[in-house]
Amino acid sequence: MGVAAGVAACDAPVKEPAEPAFKYTIDSFADLKVMRYRIPGWESLSFQQKEYAYHLAEAAKYGRDILWDQNCKENLRLRHVLEAILENVDAEEGNADYDAFLTYAKRVFFSNGMHHHYAEDKILPGCSREYFASLMEAAGVSDPELLEIIYNPAIYPQRRSTETSGDIVKNSAVNFYDGVTREEVEKYYASIADPNDPEPISYGLNTKVVKNEKGKVVELPWKVGGIYSAALEKICEELSKAAAVAENDIQKRAIALLIDYYKTGDLRTWDKFNIEWVKDTLGTVDFINGFIEDYNDPLGRKASWEGYVNIKDFEASRRTEILSQNAQWFEDNSPVDPRFRKEKVKGVSAKVINAVCLAGDSYPSTPIGINLPNADWIRKEHGSKSVTIANITHTYDLAAQELPNSTLKEFAYSKKEIELAKKWGTIADEIHTDLHECLGHASGQLLPGVSSTAMGEYASALEEARADLFGLYYTADPKMVELGIMPDPEAYKAEYANYIRNGLMVQFTRVELGRPNTEAHMQNRKLVAEWCYEKGAKDKVIVKKVKDGKTYFVVNDYVKLRALFAELLAEIQRIKSEGDYQAGKALIETYAVNIDPELHKEVKARYESLGLKPYGGFINPEIRPVLSAEGAVVDYEPVYTDDYLGQMLLYGKKYGTL
Ligand code: ZN
Repeated sequence: MGVAAGVAACDAPVKEPAEPAFKYTIDSFADLKVMRYRIPGWESLSFQQKEYAYHLAEAAKYGRDILWDQNCKENLRLRHVLEAILENVDAEEGNADYDAFLTYAKRVFFSNGMHHHYAEDKILPGCSREYFASLMEAAGVSDPELLEIIYNPAIYPQRRSTETSGDIVKNSAVNFYDGVTREEVEKYYASIADPNDPEPISYGLNTKVVKNEKGKVVELPWKVGGIYSAALEKICEELSKAAAVAENDIQKRAIALLIDYYKTGDLRTWDKFNIEWVKDTLGTVDFINGFIEDYNDPLGRKASWEGYVNIKDFEASRRTEILSQNAQWFEDNSPVDPRFRKEKVKGVSAKVINAVCLAGDSYPSTPIGINLPNADWIRKEHGSKSVTIANITHTYDLAAQELPNSTLKEFAYSKKEIELAKKWGTIADEIHTDLHECLGHASGQLLPGVSSTAMGEYASALEEARADLFGLYYTADPKMVELGIMPDPEAYKAEYANYIRNGLMVQFTRVELGRPNTEAHMQNRKLVAEWCYEKGAKDKVIVKKVKDGKTYFVVNDYVKLRALFAELLAEIQRIKSEGDYQAGKALIETYAVNIDPELHKEVKARYESLGLKPYGGFINPEIRPVLSAEGAVVDYEPVYTDDYLGQMLLYGKKYGTL
């Protein structure tokens, strides 16, 4: 099917470029742009490693339907209707209603459901309800009840409710709870969790909470034979094939445990899997596959299904290996109270990777750094794996260079600032991410008796702030130049200027006017930047300037700014280590949530004038088996498709299980 093509105003001859460059941005609509990434290093893999990666990627893609259903129980029903329309109804070229429908469909595919992937709000179609109904009818999939769900803004208004005043369990559209209140869920988990267990399982990670016929609160597991059985069976099948060609025995043991966990739903087995998975630091191919991150659950227990397959970037990993080897030095010299430092930082393994396949909650929108597992005691006893994803970060940069405008040009105050950013911006930012992931999250410890859940709903934002501050503080440390990681003693300034600009202004482009700042990473950045702006005001550390009616925030004293980062890091570490909920809450509510409405309006208008998209996502290369004349698989090669909707429809057909 075809997208209605725009009609050119004049017939100017189009010049073919002599050598067509690889185009990174392949689609854009609403507030989104879709890119494609390459897999550097794929060719150097052995056939067996490629086969291993291929089956892991298949296993990852089979989890797609799980995430859709987790995000809201009506999502798969909606997707099946969209697929039927896109496949069976001829595109009406130039019809504004059809274009609006198409944009809606693309947005829903991007979000893995009917709610905005970042803002949580329900996406409403831009075409009329009557028109949508006519498309459904033409495709033979009329569904008046679904139509009401799509168009009535009062039904499932938010995926994860950001209204903290109401019952966030009842008000969230996520499919983690049914017929239970927040109070009932909290009471239930308080009754089953053992507070004295030094190795607590992640209670509730892989279940849905409902009431049984007797009105008792119970958990229904996501496992083979339980909820999501069909998808998990296919995942296990592909994982078995992968295990047969794994690179080493640790990987084999890990995968066997993962399969066992999917079959039993036993969270002790999940922990055992994670312990094995952390040990595998020698393999080139690695993966994430499971119910991993709990950001989408209003109570932070239930994990969204996520998949990731990647290969190690040996060159770039040298940098993070140096950081890991020196982890204890960074811990011992950090500006926090010695009582809150780890005496021994264990197993901070870190590497730079290139993505091979994104899936579940990492597709199409993906993080650029990952640090797992999440269980605190495993991290403490066995360590964690920390990665930065090079080919995704580079694709963002390369895609931005395809455009004439940039946020840097618009929001940086001076030529000098732009030059600084161009010279050191990319590398300084990558190094800050390395520090955040390898050392930041792994640093610090709780005082004995302080619960890891003491910070409640403020935990994510405070934890991100802690990791960011740790990274910011050390980005400017002479040790970084000494270790051969930072290329120049001045390079950190590019990251500082960028961080402040982003935290105080640029990132607000992602928030709807009139709405508060609710996402954890964005809250963290605003908290850090806003706090430093306020505390540094008397010394003019960060100066607000207005030129031609436009606002700018300029870092005036980099040394003092670093001292402020140190001070806030010490305070947030204290809050976490002591479990000082009230102080954490006060920091977030004072500095992270409310956006100055005038500035917000200005930033949105300036950003809009650039014609850029605030969110990006990626489609995957198709990894295709290459067959010999006899029909045997002799190789696997990545095919860099550029058809966003095509991949969405293909995945629906090929990996649809639920
Ligand atoms: Zn983080």
